[in-house]
Amino acid sequence: MYNLDGLRSFSVAGTHLGVVGFPITHSISPIFQNAALRAMEQEAPELKSWEYHKIEAPVEQLQSVIEVTRSKGFRGLNLTIPHKVEVLKFLDCVDAVAERMGAVNTLVFDKNGVSGFNSDGYGISNAIRQQFGVEIRNRPVVMLGAGGASRAACVQCLEDGCSELWVGNRSVERMQELLDRIRSYYPDRLIRGFSLGTEIPDCGSGALLINATSLGLKPEDPMPVQPEVIGRVSFVYDMVYGRHTSALVKCAKETGLPASDGLTMLVHQGKRSLEIWTGKEVPVDVMTAAVKTHMQNAAK
Ligand code: NDP
Repeated sequence: MYNLDGLRSFSVAGTHLGVVGFPITHSISPIFQNAALRAMEQEAPELKSWEYHKIEAPVEQLQSVIEVTRSKGFRGLNLTIPHKVEVLKFLDCVDAVAERMGAVNTLVFDKNGVSGFNSDGYGISNAIRQQFGVEIRNRPVVMLGAGGASRAACVQCLEDGCSELWVGNRSVERMQELLDRIRSYYPDRLIRGFSLGTEIPDCGSGALLINATSLGLKPEDPMPVQPEVIGRVSFVYDMVYGRHTSALVKCAKETGLPASDGLTMLVHQGKRSLEIWTGKEVPVDVMTAAVKTHMQNAAK
């Protein structure tokens, strides 16, 4: 793991990638990104010198981290909490969907400068397809949370053609801000807010519930919604992941619903980022296997 001082004296030859966050110790991105790079180098020997690192930096160091990594042969970076919104002011160009999301999690360094993308939307869309075998298109979505992850997922669901979107959040002000933002980009779509804990969204059949709050990170966390809400939906995707099963996923499974934690989203967003950096097909099965092995070893 590197910090800003470590990066300043970094002198490893090759092409580098990394994930920047604060804190970052818990990140498993290097495990599946390096596993994919090692598999890809069999067909693309130029990737032999590519390596993905963890970089710990608080928000006030982000600009310096970008400058230093660019000067040290990095091809790009992933960004996680707390950098996804702050980074916008340091970019030379931003992908149109990332701009709507108001958040960037993938930087590309090239002759045009620093470009920003967001692969979290791709991640959620593909995770839902993989876990549940369904599309977001024409389906009602109930989104819990109004932070960065929710912003990206809401825009993706609207881009994918969800039939209606319900957003529930603890802070009503933050929910209203998110609703105003997405309604300005998608004025003709059915977008409604509801108060988490007191209201039940009146969504149509076949609905997909996505948890984009941070509730569930700790084993003792309660569900982010009342059990009655689970009775209104058909699929439950919890973006949160860890070694334990969240109360939300437990409750959904007990109710007989297909339910999943957020590991598949993590892998798919990482796959998309690596595709952007390498321009090559990325073996998502290799990434998934690396994550499974890591989680099994960590549980021992
Ligand atoms: P933010 O800090 O931006 O947002 C946190 C959200 O959680 C807000 O909506 C906040 O509500 C809500 N929240 C926090 N505590 C509580 C609580 N006690 N009760 C009810 N609501 C609560 O975080 P992000 O949006 O970046 O991330 C959210 C989660 O998604 C994290 O757990 C993160 O790990 C996960 N994530 C997973 C990804 C994956 O690949 N699987 C990708 C990105 C994120 P309020 O506005 O009221 O404070």
